[in-house]
Amino acid sequence: MHKITNEIYDILYKKFGEAKCELDFKNNYELIVAVILSARCTDKRVNIITKDLFKKYPDVNSLANAKTEELEKMIYSCGFYKNKAKNLINMANDVVNKYNGEVPSEFEDLTTLAGVGRKTANVVMAVGFSKQAIAVDTHVFRVSNRLEIAKSKNPLECEKTLQKNVEKEKWGQFHHFLVLFGRYVCKSQNPMCDGCELSSFCKYKKEKN
Ligand code: SF4
Repeated sequence: MHKITNEIYDILYKKFGEAKCELDFKNNYELIVAVILSARCTDKRVNIITKDLFKKYPDVNSLANAKTEELEKMIYSCGFYKNKAKNLINMANDVVNKYNGEVPSEFEDLTTLAGVGRKTANVVMAVGFSKQAIAVDTHVFRVSNRLEIAKSKNPLECEKTLQKNVEKEKWGQFHHFLVLFGRYVCKSQNPMCDGCELSSFCKYKKEKN
């Protein structure tokens, strides 16, 4: 593992302990729905929405048969609701028709599902199936660039660089650490640099001062 990345991992481990996904879910069907809804939306908001959503659509079959307008109304507050509703219904139909109603566990299969890109597939693999994957969302991308542990122009480049710099058995945890750190400390606007445990590694802060 890259030396500085390793030190950062250890500091974040001390800060967050065994970190986990902040989305509420009971099975992989609920997980994939929650991750699709979470695009450009907070986990907190998604958890409010899915509380009722999973009562109305408790499994992939019920979601596959959902009426678009009814689903749109339920997920309206998470933004991009029209696209997300269409993707959720299509994803559910894909799972029913192509995968016997079971959310697949392989990256190549997951990314054939409607609305499922690299990030969603990696989260489902890591969180739902305990496989090693690094999902690059907006927090992971921003923090990796600020700390220069994966200087990158796009999420795919960031993912590949992190995969090189981090031991495989730590990929899942490192993803959660960077998400939490980006969400609560190294925020997009007004990062909390005073008192930041990683400031000694941070080129972004040095350049800003
Ligand atoms: S010093 Fe500031 S910009 Fe750098 S990692 Fe910490 S919070 Fe982010």
